[in-house]
Amino acid sequence: MRSRESAICLRTTDYSETSQVVHFLTRQTGVVRLLAKGTKRPKSKSGGALDLLSEGDLLFSVKDADTLGTLMEFSETVSHTALRRDAQRLNASLYMLELAHEMLAEGDPHPSVFDLLHRALERLEQDDAPIPAVLAYFQWRLLRHVGLLGGLDACVACGASVREMSHRAGVYFTSRQGGLLCDGCQAGEQEKFRLDPATLGALATLAAAETGRRVSLPEPAARSVNRLLGYHVSQQLGKRLKMTRYALGEL
Ligand SMILES: [Zn+2]
Repeated sequence: MRSRESAICLRTTDYSETSQVVHFLTRQTGVVRLLAKGTKRPKSKSGGALDLLSEGDLLFSVKDADTLGTLMEFSETVSHTALRRDAQRLNASLYMLELAHEMLAEGDPHPSVFDLLHRALERLEQDDAPIPAVLAYFQWRLLRHVGLLGGLDACVACGASVREMSHRAGVYFTSRQGGLLCDGCQAGEQEKFRLDPATLGALATLAAAETGRRVSLPEPAARSVNRLLGYHVSQQLGKRLKMTRYALGEL
């Protein structure tokens, strides 16, 4: 199958002296793994080796998800130079690429994740971007989209609503069940992450943002949500993403 699509470069590895294997998130086909022949030659058609974060029009052919496809043509439309110039923006955007790559299976289309990533990268590039908040919203939406996060407005064990829970006693998040546990139910679960009231408030803010409301997430709250969601990702994957430490700090 040959197709031309908007695509974002998620990952590159060297294949030979002159060629790369490049993983793209395409809008219609999802993640594809392509052999890019000759891209590392100085005079290649793509204008040199392909870089992470490059966005553009991709012409490629793939047989099935198990076989390496072929990159036929890539013309970059967005190079994200502003992201590459600033360590904090770069770390956040590379974390987003890594997370998208880990969460999506090859050849499984997710146009809304493509759009989410496209918009998050665009926002991160702006001078006034609230970097931790952009990252928090991206993680939240992606994890919701792939079904790893519930509504987070009630205890997954007894159904008590967040409002009914005693915040002083403690509210917990459990990755295994992808939801909240109240103080009465948390004792039965070994794997859990204690939430402070600010983090709980931030989760409610993200839920409101998801319904299209304009919200703002203060930086400390965004950082604590990022650590929580980073913890959830690590638990789900059984490993920590390479960019976790740089983008989220110590969990
Ligand atoms: Zn409960």
